[in-house]
Amino acid sequence: MTKIVGWNLVKGPATLMYPQRERIFTPITRGRIENAIERCIFCGLCGRRCPTFAIAVAKENKEWQIDRLRCCVCNLCVEICPTKCLSTNQQYPAPVSARELAIHRENQPPSPAGKDEAPRQGNRGDA
Ligand code: SF4
Ligand code: SF4
Repeated sequence: MTKIVGWNLVKGPATLMYPQRERIFTPITRGRIENAIERCIFCGLCGRRCPTFAIAVAKENKEWQIDRLRCCVCNLCVEICPTKCLSTNQQYPAPVSARELAIHRENQPPSPAGKDEAPRQGNRGDA
């Protein structure tokens, strides 16, 4: 016990002083799901596999959407996608004050909810 207390006094806090110190992402950091919509065939497999029902696909409208507040970044949708258009970005979504859906449509730029997710650095403390 004394040894642990002494070690912690010398070592200092395990958390990072965000935003003064920038977070360094590792190769396996999971930030958010991205869709290269030009390769999406709107098969819906990702939505059926998603354990949190974060993805909705409308094949008839060629529309793919994700509710990022539901997504736990488990990566299952990325693994099952037959065209490999889904990927996991290392950047975390920007904080939001209300639920917004990021909507992607074929041949169109992402919806405003998709666009406002500017890369965010250093939001998770190092352990
Ligand atoms: S599994 Fe891939 S191709 Fe199928 S709807 Fe999802 S993102 Fe599009
Ligand atoms: S990463 Fe997991 S939780 Fe997030 S959308 Fe894909 S399957 Fe759903």
